[in-house]
Amino acid sequence: MSKTVNTVLGPVAVEDLGKTLMHEHFFFGYPGFYGNSLYPVDKDEILRASIETASKLKAHGVKTVVDATPNDTGRDPELLKRIAEKTGLNIICSTGYYYEGEGAPAYFKFKQALGTAEEEIYEMYMRELTEGIGDTGIKAGVIKLGSGKERITDYERMFFKVAAKVQKETGVTIITHTQEGTMGPEQAELLVSEGADPKRILIGHMDGNTDLRYHIRTLEHGVYVGFDRFGIQGFVGAPMDSDRIGVLLGLIGAGYAEQLMMSHDKVNVWLGKSPEFPAELGSLVTNWHMTHIFENIIPVLKERGISEGQINTILVQNPKQIFGGNEE
Ligand SMILES: [Zn+2]
Repeated sequence: MSKTVNTVLGPVAVEDLGKTLMHEHFFFGYPGFYGNSLYPVDKDEILRASIETASKLKAHGVKTVVDATPNDTGRDPELLKRIAEKTGLNIICSTGYYYEGEGAPAYFKFKQALGTAEEEIYEMYMRELTEGIGDTGIKAGVIKLGSGKERITDYERMFFKVAAKVQKETGVTIITHTQEGTMGPEQAELLVSEGADPKRILIGHMDGNTDLRYHIRTLEHGVYVGFDRFGIQGFVGAPMDSDRIGVLLGLIGAGYAEQLMMSHDKVNVWLGKSPEFPAELGSLVTNWHMTHIFENIIPVLKERGISEGQINTILVQNPKQIFGGNEE
């Protein structure tokens, strides 16, 4: 029996995942978007925009997208399922809550005060991973975790601890959000010390950090590291792509190609009113879209000596491995 992963259309064999983007959002809203009644969720528009994006992705050979949208930021497994049905992409959906600073912490903070939060989070993860989300029958394929800048709060720590326990029991893959590439080593250490398998962990958004030694400190835990915000330049603490490329080349040169992932963290459709970027920012994010790495980053990496085989390792082999390909 070959290893499989849950997609929104059911289990897919890990060797069939192919070229994979490990961290994107077909749609996403900061908690509170639903409070502005002027901008209700337009599912037909999301479907239209997703089909348009999917056809561009397929032209670059992408077969699988991990949608990293947490439960409290507008996740909708049935809409993801419709996108998968219409486009033929494998879409892997997440279970989890966003980090305290930008998520909706009130609900589980209340339960934390009552002493019942961890038990409830455990039930939620397990149900969503093994039986389905609500009554949809659609199973999540990854746990999504997050922490804020330069600290992991007590609220965030609960989710990490429970996720490690669930990882141990189910073998599920964990992907994370780091804020501005901080707390990578600490996230890895916390999960591994709680018993999670480092080979199933992707520490995300580490490309927000240009300190090579900090990356290596994270990688030394045996986890994957995400260069998964290509195209986000000069805001939310993000460096320029040219700086990211320098760090990525350094890590590949140091022998870490088998622990690196690439993606964009693109928000394809914003729930609520679409954000209007000020002019000076607009020019910095024109390449923030789901095919940017294929069009603009990989050609530069190749010019700088990275081989087709190494690109394949990062975009095909590593995603297969993190979903259990190394157990075959
Ligand atoms: Zn994200």
